[in-house]
Amino acid sequence: MRGVVMHTPGDVRVEERDDPRIVEPTDAIIRVTSTCICGSDLWPYRGVEPVEHTPMGHEYVGVVEEAGSEVRNVKVGDFVVGSFVISDNTCEICQAGFQSKCVNARMVAGTIGTQAERARIPFADGTLVPTPGRPDPDLVPSLLAASDVLGTGWFASVAAEAGPGKTVAVVGDGAVGLMAILAARHLGAERIIAFSRHPERQKLARYYGATDIVEERGDEGVARIKELTGGLGAHSVVEAVGTQESFMQAVGATRGGGHLGYVGVNYDVAIPGIELFFAGIHTLGGPAPVRRFLPELIQLIWDRTIDPGKVFDLTLPLDQAAEGYQAMDERRATKVLLQP
Ligand SMILES: [Zn+2]
Repeated sequence: MRGVVMHTPGDVRVEERDDPRIVEPTDAIIRVTSTCICGSDLWPYRGVEPVEHTPMGHEYVGVVEEAGSEVRNVKVGDFVVGSFVISDNTCEICQAGFQSKCVNARMVAGTIGTQAERARIPFADGTLVPTPGRPDPDLVPSLLAASDVLGTGWFASVAAEAGPGKTVAVVGDGAVGLMAILAARHLGAERIIAFSRHPERQKLARYYGATDIVEERGDEGVARIKELTGGLGAHSVVEAVGTQESFMQAVGATRGGGHLGYVGVNYDVAIPGIELFFAGIHTLGGPAPVRRFLPELIQLIWDRTIDPGKVFDLTLPLDQAAEGYQAMDERRATKVLLQP
């Protein structure tokens, strides 16, 4: 089969990979019908995260082609959406709703690599969720978004306790930040403030429910949020970038007793203990337990209540993956869909 392999930072190639096969009776093999490039794929691309002949991709929708003898919840022919973390969905951690920290958790990125024609999904019963039927083609990008960016943005807004009467501030106008805005609106937030300097993304942020846009960053961004909230700060803040500046901006924008949901994969961010101490806020974050939200998100998409698929602004054939990476690296594209 054809699949994306990153040889060294910046060197993305589509090449022949071994066809996946059932190894464990709990595995399923899926034919990937759509996949995409994630902001976190840019970490190895830019050399921040080690990479060496790594199979890429962790977002996927597809059709089950083969199921191991112990797979019960999905069957051959089902259209499925899966999380970017493999989970059994039965252990104590999964039962508590933190499938991304499952005792059998395994990252799809770097090992399975779903930017490919096929993929072997371990713990298929715990990882994959079938859709109610074959989706209309226009629903597919939205279902693909549920695999990571929507699920992650949703978790961030839930972790930040976005809800009725709340003011939510979202740091980051990438796909996850935009999805957190969509989630905050769905959860009933009264006011949603998006940090963005990018005109196209500001437009999309408003489309998904942002009521205010703040272009300032860092301490100036924090000051602006305070101004907009009577000096208090936001009840709920989402951090969806993962840099030192964005993280401290998010901490500073959260009011005392408020909630910060942080989902930007962060490297070398050092949070001064004394600042966190005196902030007096709740924090929850990390790799999102997307699997917890998948059944609900699939239904909302199926019923056309939400349309997260608009975050994809470039679609390319899988063979042109290298161009897709470049477009995202140069911020010419928010999110790139790849068609195997
Ligand atoms: Zn588990």
